Amino acid sequence: MDLYSGHINRLIEELAGLPGIGNKSAQRLAFYLINLPKERVERFANAILDARANVRYCQKCFTLTDRDVCPVCSDPKRNQKVIMVVENTRDLAAYEKTGKYEGVYHVLHGVIAPMLGIGPGDIKIKELLTRLQGDVDEVIIATNSSIEGETTAMYLSKLIKPTGIKVTRIASGVPVGGDLEYIDEVTLLRALEGRVEL
Ligand code: ZN
Repeated sequence: MDLYSGHINRLIEELAGLPGIGNKSAQRLAFYLINLPKERVERFANAILDARANVRYCQKCFTLTDRDVCPVCSDPKRNQKVIMVVENTRDLAAYEKTGKYEGVYHVLHGVIAPMLGIGPGDIKIKELLTRLQGDVDEVIIATNSSIEGETTAMYLSKLIKPTGIKVTRIASGVPVGGDLEYIDEVTLLRALEGRVEL
């Protein structure tokens, strides 16, 4: 027997498809949303639609941004010759919060994960290699210390080293499997400063 209306079921299904949201949370959120004033729901729905319509990849580093070129890449004070490779925009934001990194970034939008069928062609590696044809002194690989993060770091290092560009890896001191965004700024800075050449 279907306990809820088809509309509610559809909403629960959509919510349950979001990362980290199980079926129970999806039900809780669905009922919360349905009980909100109509204006609140409209504002929420529009925020999603607007973000989807207006957010794009930075033409240089591929982070998510409202502009063609993101604020970091368009900042003349940043060192464009040092590129830190991160998994996603959240990791970029974590490093930006330290306020101490002066280079630029390259956002992969994922890591190589053979078990999940994610290969090098599925993340922004080709785009990174194109950037490296320019004037670059160092590539800092700051993927997470998960197995996938390490695999990706090794893969990148093998690709980049023959070009003669210095390749470094942030120090492990960062908890294994720890998502970069949850690590405090001091630890992030220590990992950056303690980076080792690959
Ligand atoms: Zn950018």
